[in-house]
Amino acid sequence: MRRFLILMYHMIRVPKTPEEARYACPPARFYRHLAWLKKHRPLVSLDQIEAALAEQSALPEGAVAVTLDDGHADNYQNAFPILRELQVPATIFLTTGYLGRTNLWMARSGFPPSPMLSWEQVEEMHRYGIAFGAHTVTHPRLPELAPEAAKAEILASKRAIEERLGSCRYFAYPYGLFDPACRDWVKEAGFALACSTRSGFNHLGRDPLALHRIEVRGDDALWQLKQKLKFGTNQASLALPLRYYAHRLKEKLRAWTSR
Ligand SMILES: [Zn+2]
Repeated sequence: MRRFLILMYHMIRVPKTPEEARYACPPARFYRHLAWLKKHRPLVSLDQIEAALAEQSALPEGAVAVTLDDGHADNYQNAFPILRELQVPATIFLTTGYLGRTNLWMARSGFPPSPMLSWEQVEEMHRYGIAFGAHTVTHPRLPELAPEAAKAEILASKRAIEERLGSCRYFAYPYGLFDPACRDWVKEAGFALACSTRSGFNHLGRDPLALHRIEVRGDDALWQLKQKLKFGTNQASLALPLRYYAHRLKEKLRAWTSR
């Protein structure tokens, strides 16, 4: 079975509050994660995933793509040097309306304000091979918007990136939220791939506009990342392998006894 996983990170810095721990991955931890991935998994770009889905050609077994959502300034300061040193392909999804400002949509939910990337930083990273995708203009819950407003959010973020970088083929739904109409607007806008936050493995039969991703929490230790990769789940726990193998054993026993 040829399957691949897409990982989702957010901020790469030390969290300022306990609530941020989910979204802010300290640079030393990010380095450990990527160094392990580099050694043990084939790391692929979204370009490679797009080509594989379009041509129904196989990716290397267990391939993993790295994505970072929102476009936080720490992606430039902390993630970029690590991605460059380890030569890891990565895609950053930009909330274009907040570039050069702060993460206002998060501040509204009580998170401390945090600077976002500038276009100059985006352009510099792009020159070094970091890929960029769109994540709307203002990070809304797309299915809750009027159709015209949702379409404008999708299209305007694509245009802003195209103006600066020449092209923009990938999209990530804010909060992972979308419905069939949103999916169709993303397709109409001309995106080739779109990432959700539904967890699980992807395979060649997956809708390119509803790709699954695994959320890597900022406080995930390496063993938790390994578990998420192995089981294709967001829920890492010490009991997970035990539960998984107990379930498989039960299934086997059932198959034997029903013969
Ligand atoms: Zn986001």
